[in-house]
Amino acid sequence: MTPHKIGIIGLGKIAQDQHLPVIRANPNFELLAVSSQRGIASEDARHSFQDYRDLLGLKDLEAVAICTPPQARHHIAREALLAGKSVLLEKPPAATLSELEDLRQLADKVGKTLFTTWHSQYNKAVEEAKKALAGWSIKRLQVTWKEDVRHWHPGQQWIWEAGGFGVFDPGINALSIVTRIMPEPVFIKTASLQFPANRDAPIAADLQFQTGHTDGSLQAVFDWRQTGPQSWDIEVETEAGFALKLMHGGSCLEIDGRLVVKEEPAEYQGIYRRFDALLTIGRSEVDEAPFRLVADAFMVGKRVQVEAFED
Ligand code: NAP
Repeated sequence: MTPHKIGIIGLGKIAQDQHLPVIRANPNFELLAVSSQRGIASEDARHSFQDYRDLLGLKDLEAVAICTPPQARHHIAREALLAGKSVLLEKPPAATLSELEDLRQLADKVGKTLFTTWHSQYNKAVEEAKKALAGWSIKRLQVTWKEDVRHWHPGQQWIWEAGGFGVFDPGINALSIVTRIMPEPVFIKTASLQFPANRDAPIAADLQFQTGHTDGSLQAVFDWRQTGPQSWDIEVETEAGFALKLMHGGSCLEIDGRLVVKEEPAEYQGIYRRFDALLTIGRSEVDEAPFRLVADAFMVGKRVQVEAFED
């Protein structure tokens, strides 16, 4: 099979940590080009541009991975689709739900693949949790996603700007696991969002969920001020009495206290396997469920001002 010729737009942290090495290791992809506003080149790519529009002008380029901050994604994705390229969107897939809907319709119209990636979903433990919970009613959900923003997002200013999502940038990973494993839709009942006095995006959030079926104790706590050990855990208890716990961002699963999956994360390998399959069959995959929960949290959320945050 001829490899898919792909380009990467935006060579920041995630492009360098994951997209470049994972594409390099996947024989079904060939990195044809990269574009970087700062002029960073990649020795893996035949072409390196500063302006992504030059990259989009390459005739034999089939697809692009857009690894910019979310505020820039819709505009670039639109131009890519209009240039006849399929598009892989880093998470969150856009700045708003309406932007994503616009991209979905445009991809259909031009007959190209649009793929929303939610990297945390690509863990065996997440799939096993989904299977274990299928058909059961949920009594308790506790999501604890607490990390140190200074460690994980050093110097990133976009994340604190309006549309940068703040603590929902990591929190949406937890929500993408929740929407994947829960046996029925969950929605936001109440939310409290803590905004530092000098920032336009929240540093912490408390969410209460509901399902159509139960009013049980379903909640999430996101916090970016956690130093020391980091917490990326999801606990679920069913009405039938069994309980499971996803730990370390979804890479380990315990059921009733017994460890059933423990794997090194290979999330981006899974993402590119899926993108290969979608490109090969010419289909899109647009999952907006995690994104909708974030939008709803901002919609119903109470805003609380907290101490200013300095990098
Ligand atoms: P980052 O390090 O700030 O990189 C983003 C890059 O995008 C910038 O370095 C810049 O690269 C480019 N860029 C910035 N503004 C742009 C604009 N207006 N137009 C075009 N390009 C622009 O951020 P990141 O951590 O890689 O995150 C990028 C996305 O990946 C976010 O949506 C994030 O949620 C997601 N993500 C991040 C991680 C992580 O661990 N960091 C994990 C999973 C997903 P150039 O100068 O090279 O163009």
